[in-house]
Amino acid sequence: MAEHDDYTGSVQRLAAIFQQQHRASRHQVKPDLALRRDRLARIARMVRENQDDLLAAVSQDFGNRAAIETQLLELGAVINAVNYASRRLRKWMKPEKLGVGTNFRPGKAWLRYEPLGVIGIISPWNYPISLALIPLVDALAAGNTALLKPSELTPRFSGLLARLIEQSFETSEVAVILGGPDVAEAFAATPFDHLLFTGSTAIGRKVMMAAAPNLTPVTLELGGKSPAVVCDDYAIEKAARTLAFCKCINSGQTCVAPDYVLAPRAMVEPLAKAILTQMHKGYPQLDGNADYTSIISDRHRARLLAAIEEARAGGATILSHEAPIAADSRNVAPTVVLGAPDDCLLMREEIFGPILPIIPYDRLEDAMAHINRGERPLALYVFSNDRQRQEQVLAATMSGGVTINGAMLQAGQDEVPFGGVGASGMGTYHGHHGFKRFSHARPVFKVRLINGFEMLGMPWKKLAYWMARKTIGR
Ligand code: NAD
Repeated sequence: MAEHDDYTGSVQRLAAIFQQQHRASRHQVKPDLALRRDRLARIARMVRENQDDLLAAVSQDFGNRAAIETQLLELGAVINAVNYASRRLRKWMKPEKLGVGTNFRPGKAWLRYEPLGVIGIISPWNYPISLALIPLVDALAAGNTALLKPSELTPRFSGLLARLIEQSFETSEVAVILGGPDVAEAFAATPFDHLLFTGSTAIGRKVMMAAAPNLTPVTLELGGKSPAVVCDDYAIEKAARTLAFCKCINSGQTCVAPDYVLAPRAMVEPLAKAILTQMHKGYPQLDGNADYTSIISDRHRARLLAAIEEARAGGATILSHEAPIAADSRNVAPTVVLGAPDDCLLMREEIFGPILPIIPYDRLEDAMAHINRGERPLALYVFSNDRQRQEQVLAATMSGGVTINGAMLQAGQDEVPFGGVGASGMGTYHGHHGFKRFSHARPVFKVRLINGFEMLGMPWKKLAYWMARKTIGR
């Protein structure tokens, strides 16, 4: 067993640190604006000062992770989230005035956004930095403490994160618990004040069950098969560029990557060719190309290759990038699949790799019916310049989020809530939405001058009976 795989003591450490944080959250003064901003600044400093080590660790975990993908989509995204929250935090923390009904005047009502307490964050391997640290930004902005459980599939990164967090935070503020499924199970069964889980739908179900006995509220950021619907009025080249780009970023190991495409029957072949051309242009070489990210493990790579072969055996046409890939490489070539049988793995499960099936449709209604036969996806993309058609697709389907005439852009913005619906998850975070997710909106009512309610009793007076009759209406 490698040193980084030794998780002995993780469960005991989890219990001890949870108790420490829990006690602090119940007995200490709630963090003020200055402390919250300081904690956020510590995240930004930690990321900035250790960016080379973070880049290297993630890249080693993947085999190769394009540096720009880590810089832009992870490190940059975390710094943006810190800056966005820090600048707005004073406003977010202000009490929110509420209206007061006639019977309650001249009292006043407002909401106080209060920290929930101790937040648990379980994160996956595919964007290991941002999916651990952006929820942490939101949790700390809301004044909580937090425990993180990063993925065991990125052991170098997770180990580094544990060390960096230890240098930047007291364990009573933030701590990292390392471990695989056993530790993760214990983590999900810990009585957190809120648990945010990012990962697969199958594990999301287990997390919700583990949280239920504690009545721990959960935010589940899950996966699914996110479709891209191309309409016949949209330029093939433009759609091809977007689809190829978004399917190749992180080699398709992105929760909001377009999973498969629905295209008018006559467009399928030219679209497939145009996508493949774009894939060749973007990545002339695969092995040895620092910009082309590898698949996270041999097991995941084998699953993708087996899925392609299964589709081929079922009669599908496989159009693959032609650059050579060595047998011992962890790369998978960008691939377009035509005629994939409905029941093959590529059409049943989230693909999570650089493989793009294109499914023909005859009428737009058929495309929407296809989507609605499956679980509600995390994202949906529609390519059309016709507003009515855009609206038609949105009105007839449901998904966590949508980008029109693009892909993945709904997910990376601090202003825009991010989350799934149905099997792709529940609850949203990012920016103000994340602050609210990890806060308790605590209503307060203050009696002023007179307490109108006490004028009704006790014992109950005529006025009370009159009011009841007047309100109900008889
Ligand atoms: P996964 O579900 O296998 O693992 C995610 C995390 O859960 C890991 O830290 C793992 O240790 C932990 N875990 C394992 N067993 C557990 C258990 N019994 N109880 C609690 N936690 C447990 O997911 P993955 O393979 O790391 O990530 C890929 C999946 O995540 C894809 O389905 C993808 O779509 C999804 N994803 C979703 C989002 C989103 O924001 N919606 C983002 C990225 C990835």
